[in-house]
Amino acid sequence: MRIDFVTLFPEMFAPVMDASILGRAREKGLVSWGCVNPRDFSEDKHRKVDDRPFGGGAGMVMLAEPLARAVESVREAGSRVIFLSPQGKRFDDAMASEMAKEKHLVLVCGHYEGVDERVMEVFDEELSIGDFVLTGGELAAMTVADAAVRKIPGVLKKEEAAARESFADGLLDFPQYTRPRVWRGREVPEVLFSGDHDKIARWRRDASVGATRRKRPDLLSRA
Ligand code: SAM
Repeated sequence: MRIDFVTLFPEMFAPVMDASILGRAREKGLVSWGCVNPRDFSEDKHRKVDDRPFGGGAGMVMLAEPLARAVESVREAGSRVIFLSPQGKRFDDAMASEMAKEKHLVLVCGHYEGVDERVMEVFDEELSIGDFVLTGGELAAMTVADAAVRKIPGVLKKEEAAARESFADGLLDFPQYTRPRVWRGREVPEVLFSGDHDKIARWRRDASVGATRRKRPDLLSRA
């Protein structure tokens, strides 16, 4: 998969995209990424990319033309161009799985008060990572990229990929424990040392349902 981030802040990406599992995915050739800066497409001598909103009001609005040209510089046949926005459809695990099958994602980051509404026609869709407002789309774009890339076959090591994760079957993950067996007087559930795989699987399933009921009852009604 190729990911192009359209961003005014390209320096934000390498520390996340080149670290840990995402970095390993890039080294293995399973994903490649780059940044396109709308500033490089500004026709203004000061490389201006924003202006005051018509009608007045606080803040600045990103200009349509540099943003559109930045997107057009990387769009190819089959590219999926996504604008990150608090007004978009809510991103979730199912979307991440579906996105992992794409050949080319273009993730467009807004900033300031947002973008000139007329540039929206350049994007294929609008995605939100939650009902809150970030200062810019960069963290949202990297959130989407991380969730999608880890679903590409081969990105996670075999044992990591085999792990059951929250949302996979509509439930939250079961509680996990590691050494020491007793921590500050709290013991690991006895069943996990039983060696009885069926019993452990049943305990984990019950614990999964219990965690979902306590933390996300809304999921349980859908599961
Ligand atoms: N004025 C806009 C509004 O209220 O809808 C918010 C603009 S926000 C300060 C600047 C940029 O951050 C947005 O254009 C978008 O790219 C990004 N952003 C903010 N919150 C987001 C969210 N929840 N999901 C995805 N992107 C977000």
